[in-house]
Amino acid sequence: MLDILFPKRCALCDGVLSGSEVNFGCCSFCNERVERIHSPRCYACGAPLLSFDKELCDDCVNRPRSYESNRAVFAYGDVVKDSLMRFKYHNRREYASYYGQVINEELGDYIKSSGVKALIPIPIHRNRRKTRGYNQAELLANEISRCCGVEVLDKFLIRSQETTAQKGLSNLERLKNLENSFNVTQDMIQLDKVMLVDDIFTTGSTIEACTRVLLRAGVSKVYALTVAVGQGY
Ligand SMILES: [Zn+2]
Ligand SMILES: [Zn+2]
Repeated sequence: MLDILFPKRCALCDGVLSGSEVNFGCCSFCNERVERIHSPRCYACGAPLLSFDKELCDDCVNRPRSYESNRAVFAYGDVVKDSLMRFKYHNRREYASYYGQVINEELGDYIKSSGVKALIPIPIHRNRRKTRGYNQAELLANEISRCCGVEVLDKFLIRSQETTAQKGLSNLERLKNLENSFNVTQDMIQLDKVMLVDDIFTTGSTIEACTRVLLRAGVSKVYALTVAVGQGY
């Protein structure tokens, strides 16, 4: 009955699913047309590269990077962009199970070989959480954790300030601003390596800011993973 009233929808195109598609969470059409990222990819942000000649994409050459690396399943094309918009702003929370599944398929080895002891979702400010009702990064981290067994730490890193207007600031000032809006809730936590989880990596400044806060709090190494990454080349 519930399935008739609220049919399961494709996480990529939002079309109604049928048969075995229901368990997978994505329609066969989208599964064929939306490519997952494979090598060669940027060593830092994980964006697809055109050839094996380079290690870094053009963006990452000049990007400050304290995190070890980011990996993503999809390049940020139109289909993935619309899907993430619905996931983040239009209450399509159920997409998390599909994203979690493909992340584990594509990045399970990355998570395992990094040796991380915890997954840390990029936090949102409590006011934003109140209006939106959920933090999409937390939903993702929970799904990934269910498949790979690494625990989720969702109370350690918090967003204590909403981002203020960043206009007119230099890149460095922006990053500093962002860094000041995150905090850890306890000191001296015994954490070795952790992995940040977010929906998308665009400029990388959020992941960089969170990494700096975590390293200061005593974490030894920070890795990151996202559903999507902007095109590098
Ligand atoms: Zn679809
Ligand atoms: Zn890159």
